[in-house]
Amino acid sequence: MKMHYNLQEVEEGKLMYFDKMKHVPSPLIGEHVCKVSNNNLDISPRQRARSTSMKKPKNKTFENFEMEEIRPRTSSLPTKNNYRRPLIKNLRTNYEDQDHDLYRLRTFDVTSKGIVNRGDSIKSRSTNSIVSSEGDGNVLSIESSSCSQNSLANSDGSIHKIKPYRIVILGAVGVGKSTIAQQFLTSEYLFDTSVDSEQEKMVSVLLDAEESTMEFVDLESDSAYQVEEGYDCYVVVYSIDDRKTFDRAVDILYHLRKEKHKKSAMILVGNKSDLVRTRHIQAEEAKPVAVQYDCKFIETSTVLNINIDELLVGVLKQIRLKHKKDEKERTHGTEIGCIMKSKSLLTKLFGKDTFSKSCENLYVL
Ligand code: GDP
Ligand code: MG
Repeated sequence: MKMHYNLQEVEEGKLMYFDKMKHVPSPLIGEHVCKVSNNNLDISPRQRARSTSMKKPKNKTFENFEMEEIRPRTSSLPTKNNYRRPLIKNLRTNYEDQDHDLYRLRTFDVTSKGIVNRGDSIKSRSTNSIVSSEGDGNVLSIESSSCSQNSLANSDGSIHKIKPYRIVILGAVGVGKSTIAQQFLTSEYLFDTSVDSEQEKMVSVLLDAEESTMEFVDLESDSAYQVEEGYDCYVVVYSIDDRKTFDRAVDILYHLRKEKHKKSAMILVGNKSDLVRTRHIQAEEAKPVAVQYDCKFIETSTVLNINIDELLVGVLKQIRLKHKKDEKERTHGTEIGCIMKSKSLLTKLFGKDTFSKSCENLYVL
């Protein structure tokens, strides 16, 4: 015996049976089950009995799989972690465990309105191509990007890795050094208090069509005075709600400039700018200090994700600009020396505030 279904009913969606049939392998439907005659659909009883006797488990389609990854079925509200977008993160971990050829690339543009985060991609070092991208990542520009600092392909196709830029983060305990470094790693990370300061913090960034890898070294404050030479940038952090941490930051800057790090890029960071009610250090107090020690200055909040991308891009810009300047100085030493001398003369004549504005612009020297 055959079951008869009116085609019109099917089209109007009154019979849900056929929607669910999507999950049945299509050859069965097409060849053996369905026949159309006189505007009716004929279905063999065997197929109908199987499909209605018990609720079929959902097919493991790609979309279903992703949903399960994001939020397993529970009777409770989603936890904080469920708000993250885990796809690239999982990809990164899975791939990196198996194959160190893959890495995450964060992409930024500097526009007149500020920094634009173009999203993250997973990229292969050997083929220099995108494996997966998320956000509005500009895939074309990524694929054609140069790997000038990060890695270079040898003539035999193997990869010759160049050392990443090394950045050290200094400051008193509890100011948010580890949290900042953690947040640099991905666009997906929102806020997590369980930060592992021992974890390697490497991040690759595509900026101005050039790719760079940065390694953030997260030191505890006690070792700040014996910081070795050779870092490409020093990030000194204090918390805007704690004067002691500001004093400590000033102390660190003084030691760094006095010692062997006279020329290195440095950024003074006032973190926890979300704590407006308990603020003790105004930006106006910190800026002259930054100018005095020839630093850049920025206020951040990891909780509200304020200026974290700006700081990351600022660190990279400062390093690139310093390297370029050093190179120029090596070639036309005297001219640059004169400019620097006139800058310090102007500072003496007109006071430190003359340049306090530029200390907030992390994209110029
Ligand atoms: P570290 O000792 O300098 O590495 O500081 P951590 O990164 O371990 O952070 C110390 C505490 O400050 C943690 O509880 C963080 O959650 C918190 N924290 C970090 N950044 C911020 C921020 O921007 N705002 C606020 N309110 N708390 C933060
Ligand atoms: Mg820490």
